[in-house]
Amino acid sequence: MIMSKLFSDKLISNILRFKRDQNGSVLVIMAVALVVILGMAALVVDVGALVLEKGRLQNACDAAALAAVRVAYDDSQTNARNEAEKYLDENDADYEVDNVIFNSDKTVTVSASSTVNYAFAKVLGIYSGTVDANATAVYGPVKSITGKKGVIGGVDPIGISEEVVRDEDFEFGKEYTLITADNNDIIGPGNFGFLALGGTGNDVLAKNIEEGCKTEVKSKVDTEPGAAGNKIETALKERKCPHTPSCTPTSFKKDCPSLLTVVILEEGIEYNGRDKAKIVGFATFLLSYIEKNAKSVKGYFIERTVPKNSEFVIDPGGEDFGLVASRLIK
Ligand SMILES: [Zn+2]
Repeated sequence: MIMSKLFSDKLISNILRFKRDQNGSVLVIMAVALVVILGMAALVVDVGALVLEKGRLQNACDAAALAAVRVAYDDSQTNARNEAEKYLDENDADYEVDNVIFNSDKTVTVSASSTVNYAFAKVLGIYSGTVDANATAVYGPVKSITGKKGVIGGVDPIGISEEVVRDEDFEFGKEYTLITADNNDIIGPGNFGFLALGGTGNDVLAKNIEEGCKTEVKSKVDTEPGAAGNKIETALKERKCPHTPSCTPTSFKKDCPSLLTVVILEEGIEYNGRDKAKIVGFATFLLSYIEKNAKSVKGYFIERTVPKNSEFVIDPGGEDFGLVASRLIK
């Protein structure tokens, strides 16, 4: 009985000690687990917030650079800087414009940063993090355009002399003659204004009108003499505006097939029959008139429209014939 009592007392005290030790262990384990859980929460929530903020800041920076480069080109660097700051201020977040740099190649770089206050990492003594972003944009006359196969876009096989653009002092919104069989002085004897891009003959020309094609400033192209007829008229009719109400020079859909990207040809040269013509730029017109057999084609001169479904390269130092664009380069 006594033995039994001693045994049971020892057992009870051992059990109690074990329980005490275990309680201590549990506390240590819980403390370690809490740090791990907080660390994971900080990793998921706070690092997630940083990544999200970086994306938002980059988007704001991109928009600011695109806006600033346009103002720098058309107006002044001071106003361009203000424009960049305006774009970054428009966001709810507290964006800091670190720098607006006007590079020697006429591009503009906007750098900005933003501070993110941590929700969990502050338990570990880290209160905030900073993200930064920068964007470089270019703006200027379009130097080359490449259309996509089977989609209207790219360049249209129509050329007008830069002499005509200068002499007539082209104004946006006004109607001009793009093709004429009556007055060959515009391009040269036997030429109505069509170009042979990527091939010669009426079939290629009709296909190029229907689909658009690719070409580049400073390269030379062949003229397509005497090309007019039913096939060309039909191809041009495919490019008429299908919209209701119809597109106008001041209100048009950006993907309207009636937008023609016309090639501006070097002045002072009379192209005789099929001849090499040097390209100096591009202009956009809204197709307005097609005479029978395409003997006369007219269009409204439209401000700055890069054809949809096209790749294009900008030359900020090039001459502006109407087709000007901006894009991000970094
Ligand atoms: Zn339209």
